[in-house]
Amino acid sequence: MKNQKGISRRNFLKAGALATGALTVPSIAKGMGQVRGTSPPNRIDREVMSCCQFCQVRCTTLVQVKDDKVVNVYGNPANAWTKGGMCPKGQSLVELTYSPHRLLYPLKREGEIWKRISYAEAVDLVADRILKVKETHPDDYAHRVALFEPLWESHESEIMAQLALHMAGFPEICSVGDTCIGNSATALRICLGNPASTTTLDEVLNARTLVLWGANIAETYPPYIRWIDSAREKGVKVIYVDPRRTPTSNHSDTQIITRPGTDGALILGLIRYLIRENLYDRDYVARHVNGFKELADSADAYTPEAVSKICWLPPERIIDLAKTLAKSPKTIIWMGGSISRFTNAIQTVRAVIALQALTANLSGSGKGIINMQGGKPGGLEELEEKFHPKDLSPGLGYRKILYRMLHKNVDVLLLNSSYRRYPDANRVKKGISNVGFVVYRGFFMDEEAKLAHLVIPGTMPFESSGAQYGAQRQIVWRNKAVPAPGETVGDWQFYADLGKRINRGSFPDVHSPEDIFELVRRNSPTWTGLTLERLKDHPTGISWPCPSEGHPGTLGTLFPENRFLTPHQKVELRTPALGPVAWSEPEGSPYGDSEEAKNFPLIFTQGKVVQHWQHSFTQWSGYMAQFSDGNYVQVNPRTVEKLGVKENDWVYLETELGKIKARLRLSETILPGVVWTPSYPGGGTPEKENAGVSINTIIPGYWDKVSAQFNGFGCRLTKA
Ligand code: SF4
Repeated sequence: MKNQKGISRRNFLKAGALATGALTVPSIAKGMGQVRGTSPPNRIDREVMSCCQFCQVRCTTLVQVKDDKVVNVYGNPANAWTKGGMCPKGQSLVELTYSPHRLLYPLKREGEIWKRISYAEAVDLVADRILKVKETHPDDYAHRVALFEPLWESHESEIMAQLALHMAGFPEICSVGDTCIGNSATALRICLGNPASTTTLDEVLNARTLVLWGANIAETYPPYIRWIDSAREKGVKVIYVDPRRTPTSNHSDTQIITRPGTDGALILGLIRYLIRENLYDRDYVARHVNGFKELADSADAYTPEAVSKICWLPPERIIDLAKTLAKSPKTIIWMGGSISRFTNAIQTVRAVIALQALTANLSGSGKGIINMQGGKPGGLEELEEKFHPKDLSPGLGYRKILYRMLHKNVDVLLLNSSYRRYPDANRVKKGISNVGFVVYRGFFMDEEAKLAHLVIPGTMPFESSGAQYGAQRQIVWRNKAVPAPGETVGDWQFYADLGKRINRGSFPDVHSPEDIFELVRRNSPTWTGLTLERLKDHPTGISWPCPSEGHPGTLGTLFPENRFLTPHQKVELRTPALGPVAWSEPEGSPYGDSEEAKNFPLIFTQGKVVQHWQHSFTQWSGYMAQFSDGNYVQVNPRTVEKLGVKENDWVYLETELGKIKARLRLSETILPGVVWTPSYPGGGTPEKENAGVSINTIIPGYWDKVSAQFNGFGCRLTKA
């Protein structure tokens, strides 16, 4: 498409980005900005309240329908969290829904041929294969069937899938936490008794200091940036901690640029300073913290000089930050995804919690921790208690499932997500190739479909209803706007149908997402007040706990009066399995002990960009393709001064696992010695701008206690 001056849309956007931000970090570049609601077309039949599934902002939307077809979607201005904002990912759903490449009927592989079968035949086929596993391995069936989440369509889908498999005696479900959100959610659960944010976003307006720790909000959660701007207008000091300058830098008062993977060391340095200078709240610690002495002992090694060396920060900057936090009567720390992408992540999040405890900032107005990574609302535990078989063996976790797949010990895999989201993605692909029967639930004939024996296509968000949970602990209801095409079905439907077949009569009698929601609500005390009538009428969603029908939902602190949900009702920093709160060099780091890692002297980092959802199917959108740069690496010019390369040249980005080809982007906004690249899923797509190589094919498989490491190991660049 050309504009009036004969510049293509893509080049126009590039020119705009340069014009607005060549010297600093651009605020609005290539679809990065928040997209406001667009005017309704003149003639529509109806407008339906819906919600975007791509991230936990959960932008509620208004979907305009004409002749049973979605013609437009825009952010719902009545949503108090987003005020009508949304980002290009959510907008791409209209095009993706009507993509000519979309799969509409179940397909069964017969040799090299895909044969269309009915949905009923497809469900029978899957159920028969699963039941056969039980017959042929009566003493050893439990770990031979596995499911790879996420089931992003709705909370009801997760509930149905987990009940279907668990009730039949199959515990193997790789949750979304196994790759990214698990570490921070686990640390919060261990230390405070609940994995969710301890406060909600509205409280940033009541804080004195807001620390965005690795949280590039402007780029990853654009509708939330208005909250940061409003907080600053009210005088809240915004401190941004991140290894790179990003669009969020422009919305902050100050930025602390640290070496990637060293957040935990910096926090321990702050903790040491507060303790040594007697700047912490002794009374609060005495009453509400378990394990203070161990914390103080562990932090003692983190002198300003030691931390300065580790983090590449001047010692006075560390002291300054400690004094600022000590003086601030109300501080919120907002954690982004980046601190949970290292092998020291659980410890880092424990350190964040400890820091907030020392300054009495875990509970109360203008205080707390916002965690954009996880915090499921629950409901499943209560249901499982009701329907759970007594002899379910414990799950093995993602790494052991992969091991079993590689050793040909998994017979049926329900693949509901992309294998390209895991580190060492080619190894995962090899494991999947060893599985006897792979069922793929997706939308397009993508890399995952090519590994499957059966593809059962899913519905797009406008074609089904269900509850979504968001980062503000809110539950939002998505209404079905248009009929599902062909024989596509929602995840809830597929797993309910499968559950009934493989559990023969004992499975809950549900026929709609509403039935499932009610099942959860009736069994989950924190959801009792979330009636469907209320939710269907609520453009913002209602935040749990919501214990009764007259209850408005709970905003702000999750722990009134500092009563935490741990066994002692205190902040628990004493966990023998984890040892004292400490910091360690990320695995594979060129600054660690490994001799091999020294062959890769640069630090690898990656992050999300607004125009891609990490699960790959937005790659099938031409709208998104116009914003895409494919594989590229951002480095400081000093990092490559001996390489004889210039802006836009091709280079090889190499790790201990292999190399990919990428365009060079030179920028002063990143530290010398650090490489940054978008979390690029790669894979084939008809949209050429979107085609590329999955960055995860060269990510080594290092793990923290729960989740994978995606940053912080060594890499190198060579001229291509
Ligand atoms: S991806 Fe997130 S920010 Fe973007 S529209 Fe969807 S919910 Fe909103």
